[in-house]
Amino acid sequence: MRTVDIIGKKRDGAELSRDEIEGFIRGFVAGEVPDYQAAAWCMAVYWRGMTPSETACLTEAMAFSGATLDLHDVAPFVVDKHSSGGVGDKTTLVVAPIVASLGVPVAKMSGRGLSFSGGTLDKLEAISGFRFDLTIDQFKSQLRRISLVLAGQTHELAPADGKLYALRDVTATVDSLPLIASSIMSKKIAAGADGIVLDVKAGKGAFMATEEQAIVLADLMVQIGRRLGRRMTAVIGNMEQPLGLAAGNALEVAEAIDTLRGRGPADFTEHCLDVAAEMLLLADPATEPAVARQRALYSIADGSAFAKFREFVAAQGGDLRQIDDPSSLPRAPIQLPLLAAQTGYVAAADARAVGYAVVDLGGGRARKSDPVDPSVGVVLAPEAKIGCRVEAGQPLLQVHARDEATAQAALRRLAQAWRFAPQPVAPPPLIHRIIR
Ligand code: URA
Repeated sequence: MRTVDIIGKKRDGAELSRDEIEGFIRGFVAGEVPDYQAAAWCMAVYWRGMTPSETACLTEAMAFSGATLDLHDVAPFVVDKHSSGGVGDKTTLVVAPIVASLGVPVAKMSGRGLSFSGGTLDKLEAISGFRFDLTIDQFKSQLRRISLVLAGQTHELAPADGKLYALRDVTATVDSLPLIASSIMSKKIAAGADGIVLDVKAGKGAFMATEEQAIVLADLMVQIGRRLGRRMTAVIGNMEQPLGLAAGNALEVAEAIDTLRGRGPADFTEHCLDVAAEMLLLADPATEPAVARQRALYSIADGSAFAKFREFVAAQGGDLRQIDDPSSLPRAPIQLPLLAAQTGYVAAADARAVGYAVVDLGGGRARKSDPVDPSVGVVLAPEAKIGCRVEAGQPLLQVHARDEATAQAALRRLAQAWRFAPQPVAPPPLIHRIIR
C-alpha cells in the first residue's frame, strides 16, 4: 500500500494491518517516508487512536527497527525503568545508581525532552562531556564493568523511536496513548532489560491527565512487555505539581545530586525510594517490599548510590568536577523571584505551566533542530507545594533565565499557575497505585 493510503486509512479511523504498520515504520527509518508524511500519520493516530493489537504491532515494528540487545552474556537479570513524562522528573538520575549500587545491573535507554516534559538525555547533557551515543559494544562493556549504562536511541538501537520522538515533540502529537506506549516500550524492548518498572504519571504535568487514563496506558504497556517475556511493574504517580523543586536541565542534575547525598526534597526522595524498591523487587521477587525500600535508603545513607553515580558519569565522559561541585554546572545569569500574591494554603501549583515556562526560557524545543539551554529553569521554594501555607509577598520560586525579557515572560505565565485557599488543603498522594 502507498504511504498516502496508509495515512488516509488511519485518518478515516480504520485498523491498520501488521504489514501496513511494519511497512510504514521500515520506510520511515529508511528515509523513504518523509517527515511530512510521518507527521500527518502521527496526527491521524493522535485523533483516531489505535486498537491494542495495532499498538502492539507498532511497538514491535519500532523495537525491531534496529538491533535488540540480549544482555544475558553480561548479566542474568537486568532491570530498567521509564517515566511516561513529567515536570521535574529526574528520577532516573537517582534510582539507576541506587539500584546498580545494590548489585542489580541497570541498562537503560532514555529520551530527550518532549513538549513541556523534560528528558533524561537533555538533563545529562548539562554535564560537560557526557555522552550517550554508545555503540552496542560500548553499552555492553560498560554494563559489565560498572553495572550501569544509559544510552539514547541511535541508528543501531530503536532508530524508529529516535526519529518519531523528535517529530512528535514539534507536531503536537506527543500526548497520544498508542504513540506513548509504543515509544516507551520499543526502547525498553530494544535495550534488552528483563525487568521493567514503568513510572506512569497522571495530572496536569503529565501526558495522561487523569489517573484512569494513566492506568489504561500502564495496563497496555504491561501487557506488551509481558507478551514479549519481560517482568513488568507499573507505578501510577501523581503529577499535578512538579516533582521535587527543580525543573530545568542543570538545575535538575543538581537536585538529583543533592538527593543522592541525602539532602533531596522529601517528595522526590520518597518517589525515588518507591521506584528503586520496585526495581529491586523485579530482580528478587522474594524480597519484602519494605526491605527493598530500606536497602535503597541505606545506599543513599552510606554513600554507595552517589559513588555509583560518579562512576557512571565518569564512564560516559562527564566532568566529575561538576558532580562534586554542582555550583559549577551551567548557571543562568538572571534569577528573579515570583512572590505569593496572597496569604493562604497552596491549592494548585500547575506543573504543566512550569514545564512550558522552562521550554519558553530555552530549556526545551519549538523546532526539531533547536538547541537546549541547560542553565535555565525554575526552582520552587519548599513552601510552594500544594498544602503548604504561604504569606503574601513570600517567594514561591526563582526563575533562572538567560535574559530579563524571557524571565519576565516566564514570571507572567507562572503567576497564573498558583492558586491559594483560605482553608488547609491536603497535598496530593505521591503514588495512586502499583500494578505488580
Ligand atoms: N517517554 C517516551 O519515551 N516516549 C513518550 O512518548 C513519552 C514519554
